[in-house]
Amino acid sequence: MGKVKKGQICSINNCASLAVRSLSQTKLKTALTDSGLKLKTLRGNRVYLCEKHYKILKKAMKKERKIEKWRYPTF
Ligand SMILES: [Zn+2]
Repeated sequence: MGKVKKGQICSINNCASLAVRSLSQTKLKTALTDSGLKLKTLRGNRVYLCEKHYKILKKAMKKERKIEKWRYPTF
């Protein structure tokens, strides 16, 4: 997870807020699908997120992990 240079705009479609975080697209793929968010056309594998979208996706990623645990319980 990286910090973002000033002036970078959020990569989520229809969002024009300044980005505060950047993550790899690969990592976010499922979270994006789950939360119904779409990305703008990207250069490379970096996804820039504003604070609002970062929070939404962070939540979605947590949920994902919980589901995985539920699918494969450890006895
Ligand atoms: Zn955004």
